[in-house]
Amino acid sequence: MATSRLSDSTLEHFANVLHRRRDELVHLMASNDEALDEVRESLGEGTNDDEHDPEGPTMSDEWSKLTGLQTEGENELRELDAALERIKNHEFGMCESCGNAIGRPRLEARPYATLCIDCARKAESHG
Ligand SMILES: [Zn+2]
Repeated sequence: MATSRLSDSTLEHFANVLHRRRDELVHLMASNDEALDEVRESLGEGTNDDEHDPEGPTMSDEWSKLTGLQTEGENELRELDAALERIKNHEFGMCESCGNAIGRPRLEARPYATLCIDCARKAESHG
């Protein structure tokens, strides 16, 4: 295949970026998890509800915000792991759809991108 392979040092660079982001995310999700536990407890008590400030965010708002973040985090974690796997398998940086190089600027912005910019646009326009 006539794809321009990324050099070892480039792959190493992205492996570092991905690992750093992964560590960050794991910490973030751990503290999110603690916050969720607190909200869960407050919701469990659930009797002093008429005292809450109607202008302020309710516990269930807080709950859906946190679970939303948690879901996003899990998705990103999966993408990061998949990208690290592709580095190991020497598939990193190649478009899953057309097999062309994704291009370094795009990878810098989105290290776990699996599609080149053209295919990503096509995928989006197909909804
Ligand atoms: Zn492509």
